[in-house]
Amino acid sequence: MSQMLSQADAQKLLADVMNDAYPDERGRFGPFGGRYVPETLVPAIERLQSGVERYLHDADFLAAFHAELNSWVGRPTPLTYAPTLSKQWGAEIWLKREDLAHTGAHKINNAVGQVLLAKRLGAKRVIAETGAGQHGVAAAAACARLGMPCTVYMGSIDMERQAPNVGRMRLLGATVVPVTSGDQTLRAAVDEALRDWVSDPNGTYYCLGSAVGPHPYPYLVRELQSVIGREAREQILAATGRLPNWVVACVGGGSNAIGLFHPFVKDRDVAMLGVEAGGTGSGLGENAASLAYGRPGVLQGSYSLLLQDDDGQVRETHSISAGLDYPAVGPEHALLMSIGRVKYETVNDDEALAALAECCAAEGILPALESSHALAGAKRLARAHPGATVLVGLSGRGDKDMPTLQRTLLKDAP
Ligand SMILES: *Cc1c(COP(=O)(O)O)cnc(C)c1O
Repeated sequence: MSQMLSQADAQKLLADVMNDAYPDERGRFGPFGGRYVPETLVPAIERLQSGVERYLHDADFLAAFHAELNSWVGRPTPLTYAPTLSKQWGAEIWLKREDLAHTGAHKINNAVGQVLLAKRLGAKRVIAETGAGQHGVAAAAACARLGMPCTVYMGSIDMERQAPNVGRMRLLGATVVPVTSGDQTLRAAVDEALRDWVSDPNGTYYCLGSAVGPHPYPYLVRELQSVIGREAREQILAATGRLPNWVVACVGGGSNAIGLFHPFVKDRDVAMLGVEAGGTGSGLGENAASLAYGRPGVLQGSYSLLLQDDDGQVRETHSISAGLDYPAVGPEHALLMSIGRVKYETVNDDEALAALAECCAAEGILPALESSHALAGAKRLARAHPGATVLVGLSGRGDKDMPTLQRTLLKDAP
């Protein structure tokens, strides 16, 4: 990737990033991002854009958002020191506990923020897409709480794989619509949600679940999720008197990572590591690491790095963690990588499983398989930088992963 940018270009982009200049007025993060949508979607996106400009930093909106985060989501989430992992790995490990947020992961921060925005925009219903079901559950919960009807599009294959989450969404009052077109998984669900949105841009609000898609979504999701990094920055300063040497998070679409990273971007002495799903290998279809193995292209409204074949066809991905299993990545991460502000690495399925087991035994915390990729990345950093202070984004809890863990770590019969 870095070979795409000249050194001078990279330096200018880095200076812009340090000045918080992105996205620009065209919704771009340097060369990435933007808004590549059909004509039919423009009115809906422009309505969203003006809503974001009007409400996102408005005092009343922020007061309502933070009131829900505090009293309903359970924020601030704790920053937990991990004494045993620290001893075993040889660095000071701190965990930002998004697993303790309501519904079990960071996704609720974004969902409750967007549903509040939908109400301000006068929408009558909310639609969402979901792959593993975590964003669908967060959206359904936020809609129930705020009194909005909710429809969730979900690939029919995913509905089978994630049956408990389908039940949770239904209990929370959402209508779950099976998507039988395309790949019958997350990509097809996003396409179907966009189609629904086009048919009623005024009455319908599309609640997108990660820092991806056309502008202004990557920006909107980053702003809503930045509560993670703002809290963590304050908490680690209060606990240690210093900023951490490293901040680490897993990267699927990139929302928990950008939420944790963003408030540290200007801290030049803080290094950052994003961890992608390395799956079972580096070949196409064996992983979900768009930054490591992807090439530039447009998917679902945004120019970023995609896992595609030589003909430009976006290909199916693999990860042991369903939440990281997406063939693209948010445009801001593509920029942060290309200018070297954030380092990105891959962690494979087995390394993630091993880190999960270690965290359970050492700290009494069952992390999500997604978050376990970040833990494995932190372990690698600890080995390379003994004594460093490493802040790890624990994006969610692992209860949802029990069927996978039963088959793998526990070696129960299927
Ligand atoms: C969905 C999910 C992720 C990946 O999504 P991002 O947008 O990359 O944060 C990571 N961790 C958990 C627990 C998730 O549910």
